Amino acid sequence: ITSSKTAGRKVRLGVMGGTFDPIHHGHLVAASEVAAKFGLDEVVFVPTGQPWQKQHKQVSPSEHRYLMTVVATASNPRFTVSRVDIDRPGVTYTIDTLRDLREQRPEAELFFITGADALEQIMSWKDVDELWGLAHFVGVTRPGHELPDLGRQDVSLLEIPALAISSTDCRNRVRDHQPVWYLVPDGVVQHIAKHKLYLETSDAENA
Ligand code: ATP
Ligand code: MG
Repeated sequence: ITSSKTAGRKVRLGVMGGTFDPIHHGHLVAASEVAAKFGLDEVVFVPTGQPWQKQHKQVSPSEHRYLMTVVATASNPRFTVSRVDIDRPGVTYTIDTLRDLREQRPEAELFFITGADALEQIMSWKDVDELWGLAHFVGVTRPGHELPDLGRQDVSLLEIPALAISSTDCRNRVRDHQPVWYLVPDGVVQHIAKHKLYLETSDAENA
């Protein structure tokens, strides 16, 4: 049997972190494009933890965000979902996500996937210097956001098909009884309706 493991090649593992409130096709296309371009064996989606202190933004319960992520990724054999962040109490820091995944998957080489807006904030992240050693970073284009060139060899920038979709817009649409069909996977539309999510969304949540 020849597999990537027996050939001595490290498993190439993409890491797609997000609030996923809800997960939408922008997230899925980003993961799929990076997987194809970087020859990833797997992409693990990691929904963030529940902020125990609600700041300016209200976030749906972790289990809903986790389940929608599972539903959205179920049909892709290379997509998986991890509970590391939702099972760790408190606010999620990417450094903890990467440390935990490294511990769980010591054989893997990590590729952290992030949209242009998140990459912009990367420099202000806690423990930014340690981050570079834990994963390769891949920044993808996102409509409305400049993809910053951080001038680092361990950050790759990738242009992907532009999908002007955000979770904030999806939540506002559900609240306003506008459709989210085709912006999010069908199973996610159904999960939102079944559990009556986002009907009370307030505009102040935009972020
Ligand atoms: P919100 O509006 O609640 O902030 P969001 O749509 O930005 O939601 P997040 O869960 O915050 O989604 O994003 C997770 C990751 O996916 C981030 O790195 C973000 O930049 C990236 N991302 C989200 N939407 C897109 C998109 N349409 N195209 C490319 N990348 C995206
Ligand atoms: Mg966002």
